[in-house]
Amino acid sequence: MATGSRDEAVIVVGSGLMGTGIAHAFVVAGYEVTLVDVQAAALERSTAAIHKILESGVKLSKLTDEQARAAAQRLTTCTELAAALANPAVGLLLETVTESMQLKTAIAREADAALPVRAVIATNSSALSVTEIAAATKRTDRVIGMHFFNPVHKMKLVEIVRALGTSAETVERARAWSAAIGKTSILVEESPGLTTSRMSALAGNEAMYMLMEGVASAEDIDAAMRGAFNHPMGPLELGDLTGWDTRLAVLQYLHATFGEKFRPCPLITKLVKAGRLGRKAGHGVYRYEDGQRVPGSGLAKL
Ligand code: NAD
Repeated sequence: MATGSRDEAVIVVGSGLMGTGIAHAFVVAGYEVTLVDVQAAALERSTAAIHKILESGVKLSKLTDEQARAAAQRLTTCTELAAALANPAVGLLLETVTESMQLKTAIAREADAALPVRAVIATNSSALSVTEIAAATKRTDRVIGMHFFNPVHKMKLVEIVRALGTSAETVERARAWSAAIGKTSILVEESPGLTTSRMSALAGNEAMYMLMEGVASAEDIDAAMRGAFNHPMGPLELGDLTGWDTRLAVLQYLHATFGEKFRPCPLITKLVKAGRLGRKAGHGVYRYEDGQRVPGSGLAKL
């Protein structure tokens, strides 16, 4: 079977934010996808969201009505992983459940016991060790990280994460699947924060130190990154979007693994203690009303 071939079916486990986007990407690209979640309600929400993204694709002339209908028909949902695993055509299982090592190893173990020999088990984990997930299986050479970005239908990158035992063939297959769904892939050796979170955490932390020191206003620090480096969003706006609690957790992990340069800026800790977690709380570095940022609301020097 050709690498990345549409004859290989795909299982996506976890139909939350990421699983929804990943399943959409594969059905649009012509793959049969079974989307699995323990919560039937999550599958309903996810199916509705996929239909909505397909409809907006038609409106934007990215695909025809016919193509959107065919893509929707390629999607099957199911609450039982065992039932999905019974499909002998599965070439890829992509796990994107809640970030928990216990959950992820349990899924990898069950999948390993039932999937066809050649099938690859991929995880979308942002931070957990792919090597540790692979160790729960007897196919360590066919376990890999495929780290997508939110929203998946807009973000082009997939970070392919090579674990200790991942084979060159599995890397090639993950690259082929990424290309088949229209993504650009990069290869990263398993390492804390991969490339993206590590760079983004450092830039966001430095921006917070600059804000704390009064080097420039929040608005101007963000305008600097947009205007000088063509970033679509400044580091403080991005922190508000990601959530400062998430950002703090990543920094604490990187600080513990890489040392001093990732020490979280005290201003981030202060924001989190105040419950100013960002957009989701209506208040972070900036204030938000009805989802819109309030002009001039940027946190001033402390
Ligand atoms: P989410 O909370 O939106 O969705 C997780 C889903 O997994 C839920 O619907 C839950 O019901 C389901 N689930 C939990 N246990 C399950 C099980 N045993 N079997 C089947 N389904 C199960 O989470 P998310 O934001 O989509 O994140 C999922 C994964 O993707 C995490 O590992 C996260 O680190 C990673 N990730 C997230 C982002 C992001 O921006 N949110 C970006 C890249 C990677």
